[in-house]
Amino acid sequence: MLREMLAEPLVAERTGEDGTGEGPNAFAIELLPDEVIGRIAAGEAIERPASAAKELIENAIDAGASSVHVEVEAGGRRILRVTDNGIGIRAGEIELAFKRHATSKLRTADDLRDISTLGFRGEALASIAAVSRATVVTRHRADEMGVSLHVRGGVIEQRRLVGAPAGTAVAIENLFFNTPARLAFLKSETTEKRHIHWVVLRYAMAYPNIAFALKQDGRERFRSSGGGELADVVANAFGLKAFRCMMAIDAAEERRPGRPAIGITGYVSQPTLSRASRDRIILFVNGRAIQDSTLSHAITQAYDGLLKAGAFPFAVLMISVPPDFVDVNVHPTKAEVRFRDSQLVFVAAQRAVRETLLKSTDSAPAADLWTATGFGEDSIAYQNPQPAWRRRNAEDLFDDEGIDAIPEAAEAPLRPRTLPVLRVVGQVGAAYIIAEGPSGLYLIDQNAAHERVLYHQLIDESANGGISSATLSESQAALLAPADAELLSEVSDLFTQLNFEIEVFGPNSFVIRRAPQIVSGMLCTEVLPRMLASLRRSEKSAICALEALAAAAAVRSGQILQQEEMGLLIAQLERCPSPFASPSGRKTLIHLSREDLADEFKRR
Ligand code: ADP
Ligand code: MG
Repeated sequence: MLREMLAEPLVAERTGEDGTGEGPNAFAIELLPDEVIGRIAAGEAIERPASAAKELIENAIDAGASSVHVEVEAGGRRILRVTDNGIGIRAGEIELAFKRHATSKLRTADDLRDISTLGFRGEALASIAAVSRATVVTRHRADEMGVSLHVRGGVIEQRRLVGAPAGTAVAIENLFFNTPARLAFLKSETTEKRHIHWVVLRYAMAYPNIAFALKQDGRERFRSSGGGELADVVANAFGLKAFRCMMAIDAAEERRPGRPAIGITGYVSQPTLSRASRDRIILFVNGRAIQDSTLSHAITQAYDGLLKAGAFPFAVLMISVPPDFVDVNVHPTKAEVRFRDSQLVFVAAQRAVRETLLKSTDSAPAADLWTATGFGEDSIAYQNPQPAWRRRNAEDLFDDEGIDAIPEAAEAPLRPRTLPVLRVVGQVGAAYIIAEGPSGLYLIDQNAAHERVLYHQLIDESANGGISSATLSESQAALLAPADAELLSEVSDLFTQLNFEIEVFGPNSFVIRRAPQIVSGMLCTEVLPRMLASLRRSEKSAICALEALAAAAAVRSGQILQQEEMGLLIAQLERCPSPFASPSGRKTLIHLSREDLADEFKRR
């Protein structure tokens, strides 16, 4: 019964402003029976101010608050105060709230399967109060008088009835005053401040309906309106400049009979915006901020071929799954969850992000990654701006810290060099080109490198009026395998976009009259099946069709190349964005630096 009531969408209650909504705290606080305690994954002792902030904010959200204020002094060591306008705690239950395993959110072990509140272990207040001086002032909506309680190191020092607004204010002072070891291990005040800041930002994103405010040392650091728009919060959290480079996830939810409904919404960055670490990939599952490296990897992978190695996207991903599909009772700080079938979630997340990205690049094929680099670590990345992504206003002054790549230039410059000037030495095995550069030796896979070069040529062409094509001097007839023929009719639009002119001639047979310039000298009877084979394995999108065309047109391995041909290929590769991998992710070159060689020959 309790579970059923809890499973009602809490958000509806949270948005109720009249204060009559019955949040989970409408239930009495009770001590959990031993058998339930045994089933609860051990909660972690409060390990830093940000963990205390997180717990207090979660309590406010669970209490159905529509406004949550967080005030911090000295990175949370001196004071950490969270004030909400939620349902409040009944005066008669206040002492119980500070007992370990006392909660209003869980009754039976069965309820654990279906948790829809953020808290459920009944441990946080007890753990926090054990290592601080805690003061709570609260008034339950149904009570006339509020109550205030002082607890010091876990011992109740004072309790009195007070007049107070409905809601709860918990103030934590001198955190860890009685646990010097933990105090000594705290990171710098700045680090703690940053952690708390991110805790607030994450909950503000997860609950755009709630108005959050964060004050650190008397200065307001963040505020969300509670207007219900995720976009507002993300723009506010990341800054307008970064937000302009993000797009709303736009992907159809895949519903299959017998599979749980997995909803993915949120925002992801266009490939023009990236960061050198994964720390702007923010994940939520059913309103709970979680960490999941496999899931962030799945998201990064969706950018395959769009971001250079070592660059990571920005993402705010709201994943919703049926409560019984996810186990939240696995991690001490509830920061990790376990899905009944994690693969399903990863695939859904990756698909949604990829679909969003491809939609944006489809409509504007100039979306292309430029890497202005020297060769080596000290590379700086910037992007070839897409017209729509170019806008940037002077008033967007905000804390830029950490944003690595933002569209800068108004016009695309001559392609910057991405490799040093290389001199072709020769070819080995009719597959690899050996070249020499200022910093050593390069072994280049001719097929992978050519694929990369052609892919960018095609991207450029489609951005500048379309793929250049030519009418074939003699039209070519191709007889395809039935499966290929079927696929070709299915994706004929993609071929038309590439400026192929293909007519159905008979069952499984086609006549090609016009073809892209880069394959016009080739036998289309070979090009078509190759492209169809790639498309069969990939998504049926314009970008993947470009990749397929580049792959089909690239020089094969096994083909002997003339010196000039190799020279031309290398010269193109030197100015190619992301020259280190083919569009499908194969390595294009191996670099042996002078130092590598000297090491190898023991000359150092
Ligand atoms: P849990 O959240 O896991 O139940 P806590 O120790 O965080 O455990 O809180 C214990 C109980 O105190 C909660 O179940 C809730 O009933 C009550 N409580 C705590 N904070 C608040 C708050 N801000 N507003 C209303 N009730 C609260
Ligand atoms: Mg709690």
